Amino acid sequence: MIGVIGVQTFSCKKEIEEKKTEPDPEAQLAEIQSRIDSLEDFIENQPILKPAVVEPNFGLFQTLQKAGLEQKQTLKIINTLADTVELGPLRAGQVFWVGFDPIDTTKAVIFRYAENLATFHFLMTDSVTGEWRYKIVEKPLNIRYAMYEGILKEGGNLYNTLRDIGIPQNMVGIVAGVLECKVSFRTDARVGDRFKILLKETRFQDSIWIGGKVLYAGYAGSRVKHSEAFLYEEADPKSSFNAHYTEDGEALVHSGLRYPLDRLHITSGFGYRIHPTLGTRMFHSGIDYRGAIGTPVYAVADGIVVLSSYGEENGNHIAIKHSDNSQSWYLHLSQRGVGAGQRVKGRQIIGKVGNTGRSNGSHLHFAIKQPSGSWMNPALKKMIATPKLEGSKFEALKEQVKNIKIMLSKTEIAEAKSINDSTDAIVKWVIE
Ligand SMILES: [Zn+2]
Repeated sequence: MIGVIGVQTFSCKKEIEEKKTEPDPEAQLAEIQSRIDSLEDFIENQPILKPAVVEPNFGLFQTLQKAGLEQKQTLKIINTLADTVELGPLRAGQVFWVGFDPIDTTKAVIFRYAENLATFHFLMTDSVTGEWRYKIVEKPLNIRYAMYEGILKEGGNLYNTLRDIGIPQNMVGIVAGVLECKVSFRTDARVGDRFKILLKETRFQDSIWIGGKVLYAGYAGSRVKHSEAFLYEEADPKSSFNAHYTEDGEALVHSGLRYPLDRLHITSGFGYRIHPTLGTRMFHSGIDYRGAIGTPVYAVADGIVVLSSYGEENGNHIAIKHSDNSQSWYLHLSQRGVGAGQRVKGRQIIGKVGNTGRSNGSHLHFAIKQPSGSWMNPALKKMIATPKLEGSKFEALKEQVKNIKIMLSKTEIAEAKSINDSTDAIVKWVIE
């Protein structure tokens, strides 16, 4: 439907130009022989591949056990993954591949996780140390930067408008989420308000959607003053600082969720771990944040306190039920400032960080319980790490904002392209 003219893409993997020199016949033969040797070696020692299929309500642990892995190996794989890859929620039917040693067929030597059609994560055992090593393999992707502009029309809502201006389907919710951080669409959006979105779109073989990022979102309305949000990213893709900020470093908040502490330093993540001293498999139901005793703890969103009590394990703890029926839990507090039944606002102080209950060291154990009763990874609840970027992080943001602005200025001179006749939407394309 979108007639795109003059779209240019570039591949993020550059072909390495081979040197065109006359080969030495001796060297060529040696090269061929070494390839045959390594091929024979490869065929002989090829692992026996088996699929590990996720069944409904299965976690990775059950999935790998069912595929025939020993518990110890399963835990090694899970722990190595926890340190390297963000696995995300598993889907029933999802397939992992496990390679077993051709001689000792109970021994797993390779684990593969396909993040998408072009990104593969491998864990392989080192033949000498036996330790698992991580390797990522990425097929060349096409990356395109595209700017979309839109105007809110009579009778249109944000989602429809985003679709109308050609925002890829997979990105509509994400773009809306970023805009909604800045603008309350129910009360403040007006017909004629304008917005501008710069997306980084990644595709495999030009057509298969891999992923997208909102690099920039700008909004100018009659009730909302001109506001802009820039994507800030750190080298670590798992950094919880990766989020949208204003030019001044103020964080936007996703999905109305705030942060439980002013400064977040994760000391232990969510999920399965092998207990360092007991050597047993433990499930960590939340995220541990380092914090000095007495540091204020905030409610992450509006809600009703459903629990405020002391327990042997959890120490002083508080649970808040939110509008989506999820609950946020705050454990090991030194002080509780709210009681059960009390209504709280997001960002309201509800207690102080402590070291009560089964806890070795002052910290906040923060957890999210789903309506179903199971714990979920709080990091997947789209939280941001800090209300404001400071110091070197702020300097890095400024640099990234500068680059985004350069890209935006390129779109200003690019030729505008109407998407269809029924909207005033235009999309402009940028290349790197
Ligand atoms: Zn904890």
